Amino acid sequence: MPMKLSFVDTHCHIHMEEFDQDRDEVIRRARQTGVVAIVTSSITRDGFWRARRIVNSYQGYVHHSLGLDPSIVDFKIAREMMELAEEYYDKIIAIGEVGLDYWRVKDPGLRERQKLIFIEWIKLAKKLDKPIVVHSRSAGKYAIEILLRYSATRVLMHAFDGRPSRAKLGVLNGFYFSIPPSVNYSNQKMKLAKNIPLENLVLETDSPVLAPERGVRNEPANIVYSARKISELKGIELKEVAKATTRNAEELYNMEFTA
Ligand SMILES: [Zn+2]
Repeated sequence: MPMKLSFVDTHCHIHMEEFDQDRDEVIRRARQTGVVAIVTSSITRDGFWRARRIVNSYQGYVHHSLGLDPSIVDFKIAREMMELAEEYYDKIIAIGEVGLDYWRVKDPGLRERQKLIFIEWIKLAKKLDKPIVVHSRSAGKYAIEILLRYSATRVLMHAFDGRPSRAKLGVLNGFYFSIPPSVNYSNQKMKLAKNIPLENLVLETDSPVLAPERGVRNEPANIVYSARKISELKGIELKEVAKATTRNAEELYNMEFTA
């Protein structure tokens, strides 16, 4: 019998209500596929409490990353979420997703505020000694610059939407880049998966979005689409992709998922 491969879904939103009807089934399919750990990311205040509940029902399998939607450029809410991160620091495995969204936030004044909040998150991640999961829509280059300026370490650039050249500084500084199942049809993601070294790659699904085909709900079991595409683009075996990305995820989150 072939050895079962292990995958880590380094970023998704499995706590969201899109999964309320069939979450047990979704988790069962993930386990069957070889997904050994799932990191769910809450990005609102309500989402935080929702994720706490879900993480508790799948203890040791679903992990919690606490973030804030970058388009919520509100200092008061950001402050509140940061206080929750401090209070629950031993219940979360990462900060994020946080970051910059220049696609949804276009006003220069609001972008400035978004940047200030992002900087505070970077500082907090360092203070709490947690990795940081970064959202950077239409702002990848700027996000990487800020992360480097504030010497962030253990960084995951999730669903990076820029060219490989824009990712380069991050790659050189040991940042990880996660490849979602949308790599199945997205040329931009294919270029990224092909050009970023395997040492810097991890897998994500970003469920319920970024499915292998447009317009359908995504789920963690679809992680194999990301892995298969990476193996195809790099001309290496699937098991090599599974092994390397799982090891990278363990390094990033400073946890053993396969033990
Ligand atoms: Zn996400």
